[in-house]
Amino acid sequence: MSIDSPSITFIGGIHGLERIGCQLILSFLNGLIQKCYWNSVLLDSLRKITINFIPMANPAGIYFKRRGNIHNVDLMRNAPIDSKEKTAWLVGGHRISSYLPWYRGKKNVIEIENETIIDYVKKYLFPRPFNLILDCHSGFGLHDRIWFPYAKSKKYPISDIGKLFYLRKMFFLSHPHHNYIFEPQSQHYLCHGDLWDYLYDLSQSSNRIILPLTLEMGSWAWIKKNPLQIFNSLGFFHPIKNHRIKKVINNHNILFNFLIDIVMNYSNWYENSHLPLYRKKAMTKWYK
Ligand SMILES: [Zn+2]
Repeated sequence: MSIDSPSITFIGGIHGLERIGCQLILSFLNGLIQKCYWNSVLLDSLRKITINFIPMANPAGIYFKRRGNIHNVDLMRNAPIDSKEKTAWLVGGHRISSYLPWYRGKKNVIEIENETIIDYVKKYLFPRPFNLILDCHSGFGLHDRIWFPYAKSKKYPISDIGKLFYLRKMFFLSHPHHNYIFEPQSQHYLCHGDLWDYLYDLSQSSNRIILPLTLEMGSWAWIKKNPLQIFNSLGFFHPIKNHRIKKVINNHNILFNFLIDIVMNYSNWYENSHLPLYRKKAMTKWYK
């Protein structure tokens, strides 16, 4: 596919305990491949868009069943960017010890996994006219959330806040029975070293278009339905019972397909999303 096409990238497994994100992406990829054998509409569509899959961004974390990578660094706290506001204690990233979760790693050292993603974004996404990223996580709250930057600031929105508000509106109108909460990550906690904050800022300073989204699946709902799973090493972040794994994977297909559609058709809506009205609405909703 030519570098002139818009792209969407699905990323999973940045946190090694959150392996449902990897399963979700691999299952979607498998379905897409199977459909390519007989679906000519899909094959035509794939000529207009590039779909990238990075299902396991932190293989050592997955192997050792830990949040961080081989050095126990939390890859979502390791990007070279600091919050200037008050971050959540420990959870917001720290350099106290690699034995504690949310460890940022040594100062000025970007871990190889993050370096690879940064290089990939610069080399393969920056030249494209439009890029969307969906990074799949699990572990926060009872609800499924779609988050967007910043994670570093409650005071300042990203400059594309109006476009994201518009995208949210399109999703809510297309799928009125959805169960997602769609909001800036900073509504909940602030942190240092967020990879998407860093890459978003880099795209802005390079005059490139990247909209990074995070799917944060509400794992507490799985624990509520099956409290005994907290005794499983993955229980806080992963559905354990087979029927629940199937349900979770099926639930998010709607979101994946919607995001592919909006990337493929970005030229039909992207200009509208520039209207100051949407920025104003977003500011009123989240940054009063
Ligand atoms: Zn995570």
